[in-house]
Amino acid sequence: MSPKPIKRKQVDEAGTAHKIQKSQPFKETELSSNILKDVEEARRKCAESVSEFNFIEKRARLISSSKDISKNCKGIVYWMSRDQRVQDNWALLYAQKVALAVGCPLYVCFCLVPKFLDATIRHYQFILKGLQEVEKECVSLNIGFHLLLGEAYKVLPNFIKKNQIGAVVVDFSPLRVPLKWVNDVKQMLPSEIVFWQVDAHNIVPCWEASEKLEYGARTIRRKIHDKLSTYMTEFPPVICHPHPCLKSQPVDWKAAEASLLVDQSVKEVKWATPGTKEGLKMLFNFCNIRLKNFSDSRNDPTKNSLSNLSPWIHFGQISVQRCVLTVKQFRNKYSKSVDAYIEEAVVRRELADNFCFFNPKYDQVEGAYDWAKTSLKLHAKDKREYIYNKEQFEKGQTHDPLWNAAQFQMVREGKMHGFLRMYWAKKILEWSKSPEEALEIAIYLNDKYELDGRDPNGYVGCMWSICGIHDQGWAERPVFGKIRYMNYQGCKRKFDVDAFIRKYPVKEKA
Ligand SMILES: Cc1cc2nc3c(=O)[nH]c(=O)nc-3n(C[C@H](O)[C@H](O)[C@H](O)COP(=O)(O)OP(=O)(O)OC[C@H]3O[C@@H](n4cnc5c(N)ncnc54)[C@H](O)[C@@H]3O)c2cc1C
Repeated sequence: MSPKPIKRKQVDEAGTAHKIQKSQPFKETELSSNILKDVEEARRKCAESVSEFNFIEKRARLISSSKDISKNCKGIVYWMSRDQRVQDNWALLYAQKVALAVGCPLYVCFCLVPKFLDATIRHYQFILKGLQEVEKECVSLNIGFHLLLGEAYKVLPNFIKKNQIGAVVVDFSPLRVPLKWVNDVKQMLPSEIVFWQVDAHNIVPCWEASEKLEYGARTIRRKIHDKLSTYMTEFPPVICHPHPCLKSQPVDWKAAEASLLVDQSVKEVKWATPGTKEGLKMLFNFCNIRLKNFSDSRNDPTKNSLSNLSPWIHFGQISVQRCVLTVKQFRNKYSKSVDAYIEEAVVRRELADNFCFFNPKYDQVEGAYDWAKTSLKLHAKDKREYIYNKEQFEKGQTHDPLWNAAQFQMVREGKMHGFLRMYWAKKILEWSKSPEEALEIAIYLNDKYELDGRDPNGYVGCMWSICGIHDQGWAERPVFGKIRYMNYQGCKRKFDVDAFIRKYPVKEKA
């Protein structure tokens, strides 16, 4: 795949990040759709199919006691959960590899639960619209797509029985609820069903990157970089499956939406169109417009230098490995930015998965390091200059116009700038009754409004800001103890705070 840098003027017509942040819909252009063709070509060049590809077996772990597929097997299921895409998906590729070897049909099942943590209709619409693209792609590839309504342990075993499925492949999330889903399904599956889990989200699978809870970026960085040369390969294509499955009814998407029991008040955002194709176009835009400034101005919330890809990454509609493969092609031009992107998207992101996987208290003060817990406790009774409750925070009613503007950005656009997320969470610590309440409020708001919320990155981001996770102790001060402090004056030195505040006024511009 050859990178095709394009002219600035052409790119502006395709919709810059600045326009995107003003909530304008992303327009399809011939230029941005080139990335779709380039990526397809790269997969074709890699291998004809996953059968001819040297699949790294360590991406998969066997979680059933049985490892041999029954002779009566009439199909293989990929239980799609965290990674909601067809191509560039190691879990689906693994399922197809097995189905091709056995010579049987291949199915993708997604189990739609009516409620998930603090997700709202904003998030569910992103999921449902992305899955509609998945359904179309599966149909075109002779792969059965089934949206099962309800918790997996209740609906998946029936599907498996009815279709005489011999093996199930599920993707991986280190969060408690999805881990429990997998465990519950495991308990319900007949013992002869082979059950694998494939980490399709991380480049280096979470269980391969490290076998223990890492202290911070400095302890995991080398481990990840040492393994990247093995795992950072091109993807073979998911091909048109030669063993067709029985014809099924198309998904009733209206019924699926009607089954939801979620908050309908948090509206969809306009700048981020769900689905893999749109994610790839955003990637193209990032590489051609914003990447060159990523290393120098990614901490300036008034500049458009970020990838903006986290919603698609969070829902698995785009693979981080694809993002990194594409970004790396620009190394000759913007080496510092490429390295900075890899540090964030690979090292920091995989570190977050490591934290949640090895620390079941990943979203509680109790899950912090001892030095931080001791220090926060020592300062628990310190006088707070301001105290706000959850509702005041949610409505952006603090005395700090920068904090309120950041909150409005998140509520309206579903994505707060990365630098401000740190300031935002640290101020919640400063202005809450206790660190426990601060963490609870930060996670609640993050999960409710951020499109990329309910993610290991989110829990770790809140824990880093409030509980010093992956950080060190700093000079002691009131309320924060040894937790790193951030203030308004510091923000003023870094960027044009007033310009940012003007952009997110109390009342949304019509
Ligand atoms: C309080 C707080 C809450 C956060 N909540 C979330 C969340 O809910 N979901 C989420 O995905 N990220 C979260 N982050 C991490 C980070 O702010 C976002 O990943 C980033 O702003 C997403 O925007 P982007 O895709 O434009 O990122 P870019 O700056 O372009 O970075 C590229 C990619 O690197 C990864 N990344 C960037 N920063 C971090 C980080 N600090 N830790 C781990 N991975 C990172 C993301 O996958 C991101 O898409 C949070 C950080 C903090 C401090």
